[in-house]
Amino acid sequence: HMPTAELQALDAAHHMHPFTANTALGSKGARIMTQGKGVWLTDSEGNKIIDGMAGLWCVNIGYGRTELGDVAKRQMDELAYYNTFFQTSHVPAIALAAKIAELAPEGMNHVFFAGSGSEANDTNIRLVRRYWDAKGQPEKRIIIARTNGYHGSTIGGGSLGGMSGIHAHGGKIAGVVHIGEPNYWAQGGDMTPEAFGLARAQELEAMILNLGVENVAAFIGEPVQGAGGVIVPPSSYWPEIQRIVDKYGILLIADEVITGFGRTGNWFGSQSFGIKPHIMTIAKGLSSGYQPIGGSIVCDEVAAVIGSDEFNHGYTYSGHPVAAAVALENLRIMQEENIVAHVRDVAHPYLAKKWAGLMEHPMVGDAQLVGLMGSIALTPNKAARAKFSSDVGTVGYRCRERCFANNLIMRHVGDRMIISPPLVITLEEIDVLIERAWVSIDECY
Ligand code: PLP
Repeated sequence: HMPTAELQALDAAHHMHPFTANTALGSKGARIMTQGKGVWLTDSEGNKIIDGMAGLWCVNIGYGRTELGDVAKRQMDELAYYNTFFQTSHVPAIALAAKIAELAPEGMNHVFFAGSGSEANDTNIRLVRRYWDAKGQPEKRIIIARTNGYHGSTIGGGSLGGMSGIHAHGGKIAGVVHIGEPNYWAQGGDMTPEAFGLARAQELEAMILNLGVENVAAFIGEPVQGAGGVIVPPSSYWPEIQRIVDKYGILLIADEVITGFGRTGNWFGSQSFGIKPHIMTIAKGLSSGYQPIGGSIVCDEVAAVIGSDEFNHGYTYSGHPVAAAVALENLRIMQEENIVAHVRDVAHPYLAKKWAGLMEHPMVGDAQLVGLMGSIALTPNKAARAKFSSDVGTVGYRCRERCFANNLIMRHVGDRMIISPPLVITLEEIDVLIERAWVSIDECY
């Protein structure tokens, strides 16, 4: 390929990157990845980088699994495209829907495909509103979501998300309101984690009563907030949310785009936290990112209610045959190689101990981990759970830059540092990740 500097110049001149200050790219230049194998990436300069983020939380089976390319080629040669509109179907979409129903919690047997997590959450907005229309309660329109949640960046998904930066670009659709997130480290004050978790969950009840239950359609949440900083909720949180959802009879959407397909040590994060959703959003790990595909897994009751009339919704690429065939192969590999059990084996106690060990660093005040997703909080004062003052800049950003320089990819959300590595990571690779993380934290302040 061309020399890195030339690629960077072309990139900056013509390629608009998501979630990037594009004019700043010119001076700095993007890091250009050229190859991947397992948990390792190679860049255009030949550096070997350990990917602590599995791309964007998605390359669950790791890079370089050529079986997926073989399946894609076969499917393209056989039937590159057909749609699933108007009573047509094809083998990959049928087989994948059946496989997902087999893996999903009991009673969740129906899959509506999309091209991404954002599209799937847009589908969910329609699904829940359609459900209440069909039940003769069309005034039930409002979806309650959470601050700092992330549900994608289409206008629908971005509205469900609770990130003001995203709302600032184009506003929010009507009928979405937000309650607080269960971020104990940042917001728990003097409360115990359990009391804080209960209080945060009870904001849902207060919001339902305030809006009038007759107006509320659904609650949506990620089992563990991912892009918001890997916020693992106190154990009191989800049971209380479940109690409230059950009491008022509103629909529960678990956004499993990150937590689905093994990330938390079960097939779905809902299973790790005892959540019983009506709808689950899936994407990312469904195909390990080898093809763009997402969807909504819908429970029997919701599917029966909305199924009585035409559902005026769908995407050209809903259930795309190549994406579906690749996702199916990804799930076959995950099952055959017991990758979900591997997550449990390496996460606890091995990674959990090492991750908590980062708190021995004077700047690390909090360490959260569930399965293979974790976060640490960088702080100038652990006892006070203090934040760095803004005049030192974003310490998290600097830490991310140091990680990058040390050939480790970690993400930062403010001063929280995040990992979500490929699920196939080995104990030796965990050691490398932790060593590089420690050095990078040390260098960032
Ligand atoms: N929901 C969650 C929980 C996510 O983390 C993401 C992406 O990070 C999305 C939805 C959006 O998925 P996509 O980027 O595939 O549209």
